[in-house]
Amino acid sequence: MPLVDTYGRLHDNLRISVTDRCNIRCFYCMPEETPAYGPREELLTFEEIERFVRVAAGLGVRKIRITGGEPLLRKDLPYLIERLQAVPGIEDLALTTNGVLLRQQAKDLYDAGLRRLNVHLDTLDRERFRQITRRDLFDRVMDGLFYAKEVGFDPIKINAVAAKGIVEPDIVPLARFGREHGMEIRYIEFMPLDAQGIWEREKVLTADTMLAMIESGIGPLDAIPDADPQAPATEYRFRDGIGRIGFIASVSKPFCLNCNRLRLTADGKVRYCLFAIEEMDVRDLLRAPDADDEAIANVIRANVKAKWMGHQIGSSQFVPPPRPMYSIGG
Ligand code: SAM
Ligand code: SF4
Repeated sequence: MPLVDTYGRLHDNLRISVTDRCNIRCFYCMPEETPAYGPREELLTFEEIERFVRVAAGLGVRKIRITGGEPLLRKDLPYLIERLQAVPGIEDLALTTNGVLLRQQAKDLYDAGLRRLNVHLDTLDRERFRQITRRDLFDRVMDGLFYAKEVGFDPIKINAVAAKGIVEPDIVPLARFGREHGMEIRYIEFMPLDAQGIWEREKVLTADTMLAMIESGIGPLDAIPDADPQAPATEYRFRDGIGRIGFIASVSKPFCLNCNRLRLTADGKVRYCLFAIEEMDVRDLLRAPDADDEAIANVIRANVKAKWMGHQIGSSQFVPPPRPMYSIGG
């Protein structure tokens, strides 16, 4: 039986966080000081992750994205990539990274079979990068990004988080940069997932505002008819034929009704939504000497069954999840 929830949504997409640790401190995700990370022994091992993926693939999961925290901080990540690529049924594997360690790891990741990469970069301005991430690592990220391109990653997409009052000067230059280097920029509305509780509706730079900025700064854009209606980004191409961009408008235009995603946190919790309040543990089952795959499958099924219609960001009913972004896995 495929993973269909009570609203008829088919779930074939799994995001796996491999660590809650990070080497930078984006203000919309992490606290300024190093947070209380979960104990290392709570992190799922690669064998446990692989087993979970085999079970999930047996239930119809076809796409996987590795994330974190910063996934490249997880030792021997290429080994995991290799193992997951080989799981029958998995058709698509991608990774989201902040790029800081790409110079050291891009080649090994590519050799392990990874091709699709999202690199997180909000600005092309070194000082603003430092202000946003509280680390002076802009040059390392740029170097890693271009190195990944040289190694052969394709596509490379750029994740740019759009917080009002900060990144307005970056919206158009980023789109130009993407056109120049053949990388799609994905503008992501600032979501209420930060560790310090600073999110406010007024701090969200909306997709419509950014679209208008880019059209007036560069030129007209045409909506691309949904190739994949379940993809979170709404995509546009420049009318002159050079490049495309996407918006993840979780706040101003939620796409919950098309959601096909499930999440596995680094400490082994299954979550049906980034904003879910409740989650279901599979780590104990993965570690129990006598638990069979069917027991793990039952947790996945139960989580999909419990899925709500959607988050309520912006409404008075909205309650932010108990874990911030870095600890869930974006
Ligand atoms: N460390 C990696 C990175 O930054 O790409 C992977 C994990 S990070 C949590 C995944 C993505 O979440 C990032 O690319 C960033 O764009 C996005 N993100 C983090 N906090 C966010 C927030 N409060 N609102 C919107 N997007 C956010
Ligand atoms: Fe780290 Fe990614 Fe969170 Fe930034 S968004 S603090 S890079 S986990």
